Formats: sequence, C-alpha cells, structure tokens
Amino acid sequence: MPELFIDGRWTAAVAGQTREIRCPADGAFVAAVDEAGPKDAAAAVAAARDAFDRGPWPRTPAAERARLLLRVADLLERDKDALARAESLDTGKRLVESEYDLDDIANCFRYFGNLIGSGAGDRVVDTGQPGVDSRVVHEPVGVCSLITPWNYPLLQTAWKVAPALAAGNTFVLKPSELTPHTAIGLMHLLAEAGLPSGAANLVLGAGPAVGAPLTSDERVDLVSFTGGVATGRHIMAAAAPTVKKIALELGGKNPNIVFADADFDTAVDYALTAVFLHSGQVCSAGARLLVQQELHDAFVDELAARARTIRLGGPFDEHARTGPLISAAHRDKVEAYVAAGLDEGAVLRVGGKRPDDPALRDGYYYLPTVLDDCVPGMSVVRDESFGPVLTVERFRDEDEALALANDTMYGLAGGVWTQDAGRAERIASKLRAGTVWINDFHPYVPQAEWGGMKQSGIGRELGPAGLAEYQESKHIWRNTSPRPQRWFE
Ligand code: NDP
Repeated sequence: MPELFIDGRWTAAVAGQTREIRCPADGAFVAAVDEAGPKDAAAAVAAARDAFDRGPWPRTPAAERARLLLRVADLLERDKDALARAESLDTGKRLVESEYDLDDIANCFRYFGNLIGSGAGDRVVDTGQPGVDSRVVHEPVGVCSLITPWNYPLLQTAWKVAPALAAGNTFVLKPSELTPHTAIGLMHLLAEAGLPSGAANLVLGAGPAVGAPLTSDERVDLVSFTGGVATGRHIMAAAAPTVKKIALELGGKNPNIVFADADFDTAVDYALTAVFLHSGQVCSAGARLLVQQELHDAFVDELAARARTIRLGGPFDEHARTGPLISAAHRDKVEAYVAAGLDEGAVLRVGGKRPDDPALRDGYYYLPTVLDDCVPGMSVVRDESFGPVLTVERFRDEDEALALANDTMYGLAGGVWTQDAGRAERIASKLRAGTVWINDFHPYVPQAEWGGMKQSGIGRELGPAGLAEYQESKHIWRNTSPRPQRWFE
C-alpha cells in the first residue's frame, strides 16, 4: 500500500520515488516508503484547503470533534504495541520508552478532546451597554502545515494534530524523513475514527523538497514546526511573505542547577536521566550541569562513575538503558562538538568516543560523555549538540548560578536542586525558560503549556494555550435595537 495520504486516499509519490528506512540501532532495513516531492506537497495542500473551505470538519460541532479525538485515543491504546514497535524501529529508542510515549500520546488526544468538548474559551462580553449582545467565539485558523522531527516522532505529531483537529482545522503533516511509520499509523487511525477526507493529509520526504513548500504556499494559514533553530529561522522567513501564523519549538540548552544542599543521591540520579535519556536527543535535555563549587568534586566523581555503567543497546535489548543516535551524520555532529570542547579546554571525565563493543558496531552509538571544567562561550556549552554530552560548570552562589543558567540564546527548560524552598522559588522566577523543575527533571503533563522563551521558539504547545495556537478569536457584536446615530448632523 502506498504511504502518502492525500484527500482520504493512500497514494504513491508522483515522481515514483521511495526512501529506505533503516533502524539506527543496527542499520537493519525497516521498509521502503514513498518519497514525496513538491507536486505531492501541493496536492496535499490543495486537499486540505478544499476540506477547510468546503468540507464538513471545520463545521462539525465541537462536541462531535471531541468524540472523534476520544475515539482516536482509544484506537491508539488498542494499537499501542504495534505503534511502539514501529517507533522504536525508526528511532532506535528502547521499546519501553516508545510504550511510555504511546501512553502520553493517547492522553494528549484525550486532553484536547475533553478541552474542546467543554466549550472552553467562548465567552459573553459585558459591554456595559444596554441593547448590545457581545460575545467572543473561537474558530479554526484554517490549513495547518505540521512539521515534526525524529526524536519523539508520534508524540510531537500528537501535540500538533490533536489541538489542530480539536479546533476544527485541516492539516498537512510532514514528519522527519527518517521516522515516518507512526505518522502513517496515525493517518490510518484518524480515517478509522471517521475523520472526513481531506482533513488530514500526510506527505513523506525531505525538508527542502517537501517541508519547504508547506511553509510558503499561500493556501496555508499556519505553520507549526518542531526541530532545530536553523530550520526554524528558515521557516519564519519562508512564512513571512504570506504572513502565516507560526508556532516554533526549537529546542534548548537547558541548565540543571545543583546547590550544595541538594539531596546528593537523588540529584546525581536525575542529572543522569536529565541528559542521557534517549541519548540526549531530547529538546529539554539537562545538558548543562551547573554545580555549586563545594559540591563539585564529589558530585562529578559520582556522576562520571555512574555514567560509565550506562548500558547501550537496541530497542529490544532488555538490559540496555539507552540507545543509538538517529544517524551517522548526527553522530558526526556530536563528535565534532566534543572534539571542539576538548580543544577549548574542557576535561573529559567519561565517554568521548564510540563504544568498543563489537555488537554495537552497526548502530550509531556514542558513549555517555561528561566534560568537566567547561566555561561559557565554548561551542559545546553554547550549542545544542543533541547527543549524550553533559558539560559541567561551577558556580559560587545563587547570583552566579542564575547568570550562568540564563547565559544562552535558548529558554526552553531548566531544573534546580536545593532544599531551600525560598531559593528554589527565586530561581524559578528568574530563570528565563518555559518550564522550570524544582527537585525534578523532565516531567510534563498535557494540561500545562510547553514551549520556549528567547530563541527556543514562538508560542506554546499543550494546555489551553496549545489549543489557542490553532484558533482565531472572533468578536461578534450585535446591536439588538439599532437606531440612527446622527453623528454627522
Ligand atoms: P531539522 O530542524 O532539520 O528538521 C526538523 C523537521 O523539519 C524535519 O521534518 C525536517 O525534514 C524538516 N525540515 C528541514 N528543512 C526544512 C525546510 N527548509 N522547510 C521545512 N521543513 C524542513 O532537524 P534535524 O532533524 O536536522 O536536526 C537538527 C538539529 O535540530 C538537531 O541536531 C537538534 O539540535 C535539533 N532538533 C531539535 C528538536 C526539538 O525537539 N526541538 C528535535 C529534533 C532536532 P527532514 O529532516 O525530513 O529533511
């Protein structure tokens, strides 16, 4: 069966091209999928435009849209095992992590289904004037281009598709060319749940060929993108001539601040998961450890000792605790950042190379790496390496910790470890980041907004604001007893 989904039909790419998908854990062939080009992208946009302008979905009552989203959540749960497996084969991540993701994905659809079903947002405005009936209603924005990356393929897709559909939009989805399979699976479930033809469209292929037209086509009203900051800038520029609404989630270089009074064992343990989960390929990874001077030596010794024991392996290796990087090119980039950090004076405490284990030779593995004695300005401290690389900086006091933490163009997330509640709150209020964890790292819930300050992005996903991204507010003012004004008499 062909893999592009356009106007309710599964179709092959016009140019007849396909792309091989291989598992990053061992290079094994997963499947060949249709590789779309600009003509397929244009056809998908045309279908979404027509479905928005003439189709039933934008005119479907909110309660029915809610029912469909809740049905999709049930179907995701029904197909959890197959989807988790597909996600792990495309990304190389541990099966158990894909299973957690699938739970979150179903919850995301359920959250936005319930939110739209509750009639959230619409309101009567008290104008203080008799004879006026004034209300604000929310309408869908229109045709949405949804462009997603490879690290959490279906999760990041769900964060866009669920609110887009809840609000009554139609969309064209372009997942990363490396990880298409769960997006294909989701299209099957949307169709099974009864979504009208043309409301959901899927094109697969490379960013410049397929993603770019989705960001410049005048028939598109909104672009929501998750990925790298360089691509985000490009997309902003491409969307500017037609003044599209844009939502960007562009990652971060997130500080994890540990004060000397923190619970030592817990802070070490979380510092490891903060950065090495999914081999660091997490936009909110705690990749910059800021540790208070007097705690530094003991903390980094323990951290390095524990990082050395993290076992790497493929998705179905039950003993593995983290997996490979997504591609050879991505591993090259991570290696270059580590090399540059060492050149600039960082001290290697653990890792810094590919594993020796011959069983891992065919995958894109890289050892969990800790670079000590880092300082602001090093490229490995400044840029998002998006790999299993932790940089360590020291601070003396609260002010210095905050100055270091905020010394970044990014502002996605950050964590602070201390038993002093007042200090924790001061840090939380002064950290320029969209999410702050106190004595924790990484958790999120669909009820709370997610997104970045500064160059980490524009807009928010999840929460009521995540729905609002996909809505236009309209103020309707009705004069119930109109009379001549006689202003010009
Ligand atoms: P990109 O930003 O290049 O890709 C993300 C998505 O955008 C993919 O679907 C990609 O397509 C698409 N894309 C690429 N170019 C264009 C374009 N001109 N117009 C429209 N869409 C486009 O991320 P990468 O996958 O290359 O990763 C690069 C870096 O981005 C990582 O090293 C990491 O630093 C960061 N990143 C951040 C993420 C986050 O969660 N914020 C997630 C992933 C990466 P395709 O890849 O199929 O060509």
